Amino acid sequence: MGNKVLTVCPYCGSGCQMHLLVEDGKVVGAEPADGRTNEGNLCLKGHYGWDFLNDPQILTARLRKPMIRKEGVLREVSWEEAIQFTAEKLTAIKEKYGPDAIMGTGSARGPGNEANYVMQKFMRAVIGTNNIDHCARVCHGPSVAGLTYSLGDGAMSNSIPEIEDTDLLFIFGYNAAVTHPIVARRIVRAKQKGATIIVSDPRKTESARIADTWLPLKGGTNMALVNAFGHVLIEEDLFDKEYTANYVEGFEEYKASVKKYTPEYAESITGVKANDIRKVMRQYAKSNKAMILYGMGVCQFAQAVDVVKGLASLALLTGHFGRSGVGIGPVRGQNNVQGSCDMGALPNVYPGYQSVTDPKIRKKFEKAWGVTLPEKTGYHLTEIPHLVLKEDKVKAYYIFGEDPVQSDPNAAEVRETLEKMEFVIVQDIFMNKTALHADVVLPATSWGEHEGVYSSADRGFQRIRKAIDPPGEVKPDWQIISEVATAMGYPMSYRNTEEIWDEMRALCPKFSGASYKKMEEQGGVQWPCPSEDHPGTPYLYEGNRFSTLNGKGRLFACEWRAPLEQPDQEYPLTLSTVREVGHYSVRTMTGNCRALSQLSDEPGNIQISPGDASSLGIEDGHLVSIISRRGKIVARAQISDRVKTGATYMTYHFWIGACNELTGDALDPVSKTPEYKYCAIRLEKI
Ligand code: SF4
Repeated sequence: MGNKVLTVCPYCGSGCQMHLLVEDGKVVGAEPADGRTNEGNLCLKGHYGWDFLNDPQILTARLRKPMIRKEGVLREVSWEEAIQFTAEKLTAIKEKYGPDAIMGTGSARGPGNEANYVMQKFMRAVIGTNNIDHCARVCHGPSVAGLTYSLGDGAMSNSIPEIEDTDLLFIFGYNAAVTHPIVARRIVRAKQKGATIIVSDPRKTESARIADTWLPLKGGTNMALVNAFGHVLIEEDLFDKEYTANYVEGFEEYKASVKKYTPEYAESITGVKANDIRKVMRQYAKSNKAMILYGMGVCQFAQAVDVVKGLASLALLTGHFGRSGVGIGPVRGQNNVQGSCDMGALPNVYPGYQSVTDPKIRKKFEKAWGVTLPEKTGYHLTEIPHLVLKEDKVKAYYIFGEDPVQSDPNAAEVRETLEKMEFVIVQDIFMNKTALHADVVLPATSWGEHEGVYSSADRGFQRIRKAIDPPGEVKPDWQIISEVATAMGYPMSYRNTEEIWDEMRALCPKFSGASYKKMEEQGGVQWPCPSEDHPGTPYLYEGNRFSTLNGKGRLFACEWRAPLEQPDQEYPLTLSTVREVGHYSVRTMTGNCRALSQLSDEPGNIQISPGDASSLGIEDGHLVSIISRRGKIVARAQISDRVKTGATYMTYHFWIGACNELTGDALDPVSKTPEYKYCAIRLEKI
């Protein structure tokens, strides 16, 4: 007899609720549920992305037992041996080099918020360092930094359902059709209901194809375009003077900074027609309700934080906050990247975005956890190669639910970094590329095999539930981390995820009313939810009071900077990494689903413009070598008239044709997010 288990899709921040269909202890299908964000709909990955739970071993096998590297080979061992070995090695490294020689990650993927809470607590209370970070660093790190500066909260101001009830959608560097199909559905509905759609993207994406106005800017020129928008708002007197005077600060500095960015000057940098710049800002300013949505086309540049602040400034100048159907939306990519940030898997904040450098906050956590906590901010994940290879500062890495060899830029440098370290722990569900460099591999339960909470991109806590028993001897992530902590002399004895969640809530005013019970009753809770009788918050900044120290929104503009690595004679084209709809992240999950793996398989393609293909003598389907200053890979050419001359695009999911062998490690100076969207390459026909 089968049963249905209500849970949340593990693949993107849309947070779609679904039922897993279980028969004889196996998942045999999925059905959409009537969740707040998806209202009875799922995309391809939601419908077919559960099959990896059955371990079909298409791409790689599920980890079932812990392993330790002995004489160069990973060998299966008992849990007792693995935990003891891990605890002894970490203790020895901590004693020899100090706690800051150890780095840990959270995981924005399947483990859930409770496991992230336990991991950051382990790094802070047991190891004694704030060296905890996760893959938000390589995606929406600039949103957290930029929006916190401008508005006070580093998250989506409004809700996913509101997307279809606005008058104008301004979509910037964001291809929802591929990354968040259920959000894309809302965008289409908004259009059907009469909303104006403006898309700024170098590539003619699916969103651009339905746009009323497409602004095909040159890659790497976002800041110049955003400055020009601000210029038009001020020069044409389109900004809301009363709103700006009452709720916003920094107007005079902002006005001076954008003065030189006339639409004509911006056209000379961005290639976007001056008249289009004027037209879209008139439309944006005059709309009663207008919403900005953005994605990796903003965040994965070395000037990302500035652009996030610049986009928030446009909404501040026009009073598009504090109501339904307005605001700014960084649409988080991985299913729980919002949650990993919420839980403090970041080097500068405890759970609930509470600063590690604030003595009062630190004291609160010290009292709760019974330890003395470190005072200084920890390392960023993207700094680790430099800190290992150049400064010899980091000796051990506890990698939990991430695969940096596949997902981080400059893969050769990441491999060299891992090889140089004294001790690498990989805790995951599959044998991924990073695990090949591990000293210890700890097998964890997957989504579908454990309980917990995910946060959707619009701050929505929702329960995930166990549908089936895990294979082999695997254990939940929070339990593994707790056992290592206990073996290191800091007992952690949680009995279930609700106990962890309640400990977290007691320490985080923003989340304190979001109990499991309330999530069950309401289907989910959007933070802030400061008390037991609070229902949660669909949109932030009601009454136009921002979460900054003085309650005002902060305007920001600065000079545009060109991307660091420019094309030249040797490397004449640019490469940008993108995603495809049927696959997720490093593909260990979707690549091990029979239906999804049949849709597209190795290797990844390189999208190239017809003009460049013709001048290089490349035809559609030709194998080409793709070469950058850091590496060389092979992929098939896919000629596309959606791509500008001089630009190329590759998806980063694939093991063969792994484009992060090519990408550079230029970082945004504030968020330390890599410039995945722009590096120089050349193509050679094979
Ligand atoms: Fe899952 Fe995202 Fe698709 Fe929804 S839109 S079903 S959350 S992958």
